[in-house]
Amino acid sequence: MKIESRLAQIGSQSEPVTGAVSFPIYQATAFRHPQLGQSTGFDYARSKSPTRKVLEDAAAELEAGDAGFACSTGMAALQTIFALFSQGDHLLVSLDLYGGTYRLLERIMSRFGVTASYVDTNDIDALSQLCKPNTKAVLIETPTNPLMMITDIERVCAWAKTRGLLTIVDNTLLTPFFQRPIEQGADIVIHSATKYLGGHNDVLAGLIITKGEELSEQMAFLHNSIGAVLGAQDSWLLMRGMKTLALRMERHQENAVRIAGWLYDHEAVEEVYYPGLAHHPGHDIQSRQSSGNTGIFSFRLKDARYVEPILRHIRLIAFAESLGGVESLMTYPSVQTHADIPEEIRRRVGVDDRLLRFSVGIEHADDLIADLAQALEAAKREIGEEQQS
Ligand SMILES: *Cc1c(COP(=O)(O)O)cnc(C)c1O
Repeated sequence: MKIESRLAQIGSQSEPVTGAVSFPIYQATAFRHPQLGQSTGFDYARSKSPTRKVLEDAAAELEAGDAGFACSTGMAALQTIFALFSQGDHLLVSLDLYGGTYRLLERIMSRFGVTASYVDTNDIDALSQLCKPNTKAVLIETPTNPLMMITDIERVCAWAKTRGLLTIVDNTLLTPFFQRPIEQGADIVIHSATKYLGGHNDVLAGLIITKGEELSEQMAFLHNSIGAVLGAQDSWLLMRGMKTLALRMERHQENAVRIAGWLYDHEAVEEVYYPGLAHHPGHDIQSRQSSGNTGIFSFRLKDARYVEPILRHIRLIAFAESLGGVESLMTYPSVQTHADIPEEIRRRVGVDDRLLRFSVGIEHADDLIADLAQALEAAKREIGEEQQS
């Protein structure tokens, strides 16, 4: 069955007693045992819970994995995955990385003796050079955020297998609707489901999907032992959001392609980072390994003085963190989302004081362009007035 149908039907045929088309929220934490030595399959909700399980099974199936695990946030999912590693282990990690993941590795995992090297994960020579006897895994974000660097998933997975490394892919920006890393050889997929999967800027959640029996069993153990699991209400909200994922992703993509192109031609804009534009260096790999493009892009202004007035003048587009929701949000990565990444690394990848990130919502593209146009015009006027006085 096509993915659109599977998404729309999440949980709709999972309740045999009443036939409820929307799977119920099972708020129970404890489940009655029929008798000693017997279980309904549910004992205590941290280990397994009915509403969460329907979500987890759907996630595993959508990402072509063997098991799914729903966590309280994307960071909780990453922490649970990192618990696979032990003191002395080393990881290879995408250079242009989500700030929270960098912080978790550098401020917390490092205290437990797990170290990381940051590298352009599309550069196999660089990966080979940094790979040490204690290296255990490669963690890839593709596209990266905010600079939209693309990694050839299949190529890196093939290389990682020759070295006996696990490959972990953060698939938050494309979702299984556009990209399925496990089909390309990845062992683990992680999502901040807070973003596109939830899709409405109203629920925090994380998902882990694993391939292989042993890894799935290990992850089930860690998920239950650490306990950063998703509650029943939030599991339901996430499923409800996922039902419309196909429609939303198509509109996010359509809007982003149009608006990125419009900004690319604007006189105040120096560069637009969006794999959906033909001039992007990752365009070909992205077109090969994904069936579509994300709704996020970044753009660099020619003059840093534009940033403050643009963020003050946008009206329909909100100046806010996060991404992937139906509402358009714009943020300033060097100050907001990526402040935890040292300036040296930020400069190396290009997260500078002229870069803005735009998470394009599902509003009408004409209205979004009109909002950007008036904010850019107002910024230009203010800068001109400043120069005269
Ligand atoms: C937001 C995000 C995370 C963290 O997820 P939370 O749900 O905010 O904890 C991890 N990776 C990426 C790519 C993200 O965008």
